[in-house]
Amino acid sequence: MTKPHVKLHIPGPVEVSADTFCAMSQPMIGHRGTGFQDLYANIQPKLRQVLNTQNPVFLSTSSAWGVMEAAVRNLVGKKVLNCCCGAFSDKWLDVSKRCGKEAEALKVDWGRPILPEQIDAKLKTGQFDAITLVHNETSTGVMNPLADIAAVMKKYPDVMFVVDTVSSMTAIKIDTDALGIDVMLAGVQKAWALPPGLAIFAVSDRALKKAETIPGRGYYFDFLEFKANHDKNMTPSTPSIPHIYGLQFKLDQMLAEGLDNRYARHLKMAQMVRDWAKKNGFELFPQAGYESVTLTCVKNNRNIDVAKFQKAIKDKYKVLIDGGYGQIKGKSFRIGHMGDETPDTIAQLLPMLDDCLKGL
Ligand SMILES: *Cc1c(COP(=O)(O)O)cnc(C)c1O
Repeated sequence: MTKPHVKLHIPGPVEVSADTFCAMSQPMIGHRGTGFQDLYANIQPKLRQVLNTQNPVFLSTSSAWGVMEAAVRNLVGKKVLNCCCGAFSDKWLDVSKRCGKEAEALKVDWGRPILPEQIDAKLKTGQFDAITLVHNETSTGVMNPLADIAAVMKKYPDVMFVVDTVSSMTAIKIDTDALGIDVMLAGVQKAWALPPGLAIFAVSDRALKKAETIPGRGYYFDFLEFKANHDKNMTPSTPSIPHIYGLQFKLDQMLAEGLDNRYARHLKMAQMVRDWAKKNGFELFPQAGYESVTLTCVKNNRNIDVAKFQKAIKDKYKVLIDGGYGQIKGKSFRIGHMGDETPDTIAQLLPMLDDCLKGL
């Protein structure tokens, strides 16, 4: 773990600390025994605290997409509105259709946020019984105005509110229950700073009731299977137990830091990287006012050779940044600043970027 390696400053997966790997390396236990039940029961209140919810928090041995697909399969009866503002949210439309669901896009240009009034206009038609929203669109660095959108969703209590917080969960306060979020999900390789392979999701009572009415939920991702097993402090199938040990360690670490301190740390890091970009003559890719706190998507308005910049940083400093996602590859680059990163580690990173920028 501590052997020399390229440090990840991409927006996921992110760098995982040696003590996290250490916490994951414990003897295996049977997933139907009291050892596991105790572990599961121990982390539940902490998960609820970190996620600001009284809902059960389920653990899926899959990446986030497993639960993103599951939400559609469990909750869409009539038609789903997929809010599309970047690669991940665009893909959710495709996934909804592949699940055989009626689906429609609410589409904005990359770099723009989804606005509450746009959702209101669509939901007013009465066609939809679920919406999907990516809170922090990792491909564009846009953070959507979740609280404002949630306020609109209050007008539509029968419409399931499914929110991907893959790259924002734990980095910014999300008042899950107060916002009325029915499914809030994340993979652990982003702000949780665990290795990929586990997804965490909180499901409302309303959503569990709705799932009972939806056929074709399958087995592996059936929310009702998760709930039935949760009630016994278990998961439907053998979970990635090392991940759950790691999760327990991360939860304890987060609660020791204090959640407000954690949120402030992420905001501070974001401000440092945004300032760095502006100081160097770059603009930010997201529309002003909607910038992510966990990653910065820098617009390549200076027209630098992004691939060369990225390679220089990797070769000289053994640090990996991202060269832009999908249709904005090369037209932008992204720097992740989440998880275990701190203002100190960001302060070490920025001079490396300066140096490589000069050498282009
Ligand atoms: C990374 C990411 C995903 C996909 O996560 P996987 O773990 O690869 O399934 C989905 N949504 C957002 C916003 C992401 O950042």
